[in-house]
Amino acid sequence: MIGPYILYPMNFSNAEKIYLGIGGNQGAIINTIDSVIESLLNHSKIAHLQISRYYLTSPVGGPPQGHYINAVIAFDTLLEPLELLHFTQSIEQKLGKQKKMINGPRTIDIDILFFGNRIIEEKNLQVPHPRFQNRLFVLKPLHDLINQISTYKCTFEIDQLLKDFINTNSELVLPIDECFCMYKMALMC
Ligand code: AMP
Repeated sequence: MIGPYILYPMNFSNAEKIYLGIGGNQGAIINTIDSVIESLLNHSKIAHLQISRYYLTSPVGGPPQGHYINAVIAFDTLLEPLELLHFTQSIEQKLGKQKKMINGPRTIDIDILFFGNRIIEEKNLQVPHPRFQNRLFVLKPLHDLINQISTYKCTFEIDQLLKDFINTNSELVLPIDECFCMYKMALMC
């Protein structure tokens, strides 16, 4: 008998939990992030998606450029790490990512922050993402979804990383619903 409790055609009991950091500052970025989510939802080996709040963030490094929208997405997957990297890179290409300059403006960037409890040191894939702890625009949305993440070597306490964060780049990282409220309040003054 097929019960109503079967939600996915595949068995996700051996799936691994993934955290992706996504962001961009060119084009209709909220629509672009929504398209990333749609592509992930449509993959048969991806399930149980969770999405952080969307954040308005100031650019870090690179040339003068506009603000970004950033978010973090979590899900379970049956994909292997390089299969997931190829899939996220294919989404980036489909959504118009062009490799121009380091820290330069971009339509979309998708980083694999964590892959289960694995530590990956491949030429084209390092996980945990090597710079995730240095980026407020990653830590804040990540904290919306989880407080503690473990690899087989160590545990990261996300709220402690946020408390200890030294904001040398004066990064602005504001949930966009709060930006909208501030904008409305400014209009009322
Ligand atoms: P960027 O366009 O700056 O995001 O860099 C993309 C490059 O970083 C690609 O060549 C990837 O193979 C490489 N890369 C290494 N580790 C990661 C990771 N954890 N997530 C995404 N891309 C990665």
